[in-house]
Amino acid sequence: TPSLVTLGEAMAVVAATEPGPFAHGTPMRLGWAGAEATVAVGVSRLGHTAAWTGRVGDDAAGAMVLAGLRAEGVDVSGARTDPDAPTGLMLRERRTADRLRVSYYRAGLAGSRLAPADLDEARITGARILHVTGITPALSATARAAVEHAVRLAHGAGVTVSLDVNHRERLWSRTEAAEVLGRLLPYTDLLFAGPEEAALFVPGGEPEETARALTRLGPAEAVVKLGADGALAVTADGAHRQAAIPVTAVDPVGAGDAFVSGYLAARLDGSPVPERLRLAALCGAFAVSVPGDWEGIPRRTELGLLAAQDITR
Ligand code: ATP
Repeated sequence: TPSLVTLGEAMAVVAATEPGPFAHGTPMRLGWAGAEATVAVGVSRLGHTAAWTGRVGDDAAGAMVLAGLRAEGVDVSGARTDPDAPTGLMLRERRTADRLRVSYYRAGLAGSRLAPADLDEARITGARILHVTGITPALSATARAAVEHAVRLAHGAGVTVSLDVNHRERLWSRTEAAEVLGRLLPYTDLLFAGPEEAALFVPGGEPEETARALTRLGPAEAVVKLGADGALAVTADGAHRQAAIPVTAVDPVGAGDAFVSGYLAARLDGSPVPERLRLAALCGAFAVSVPGDWEGIPRRTELGLLAAQDITR
């Protein structure tokens, strides 16, 4: 049984490689993305077994997603090819050198049709960690039911439940997100949130106070991601801070998911919280240094490339 099991949406990405409006025919690169799939790739690159479940269409884009995950050693034997809906698509325009403009084609498409019956229950209860994000429950009623079922099942079996809030304001309102994700918190062991995401559940304020307040809602371990300011984790043992690793950021997208993959891999290693944060920060730094969401995530042997510059506060 894979150590990490995750479920969600993955889609094709068409990303401009140079700044300029799409209307003028900018050069583009074809790839794929998905928050949970990125976490699975990271955990796999860092040497642990990972499985991803979700739906893709019976099309070239779906084949690309599954082939890409397989190439990264992610177990996709539980993924489904949906004959009735195409794979989702994201267009990433670099409107200016500094500003991305992203369009999604996902409503009603294969990824959003994930349903509770798609889950392999034995795999979930046999895993060490179940990882979910706040994106999937925002996609559709059936996808929401799948996440809720997976989380309850894992919790009941004593499997660590990891939740990355990943609030997507284009998919649902803050009120709805707070309500639906708030119901998952009592079943969640490990919570990842940015400061604004944390504010869905607790009053805004100092990151450490925020993380502490989150642990009172269920998760024994709360990690607040602070972008280039690093991150901090609060557990019963106290608070730990981690600075970001200084790098040239060329693509901020995917930092959060890479960070989570490093954190979870270190947790699977049996490492204590400061080492989880350190590996997480290294993975986040690698990810922002390379175009694409998951492409830059390191393998174990590559960590030294950036670890030499590591600064721990
Ligand atoms: P995403 O854009 O993927 O949604 P997020 O908001 O979930 O990201 P961030 O807090 O932006 O997550 O980034 C997660 C981690 O990645 C940070 O805690 C940090 O360790 C690392 N990171 C992010 N940006 C940078 C940067 N510019 N330089 C170095 N490390 C970074």
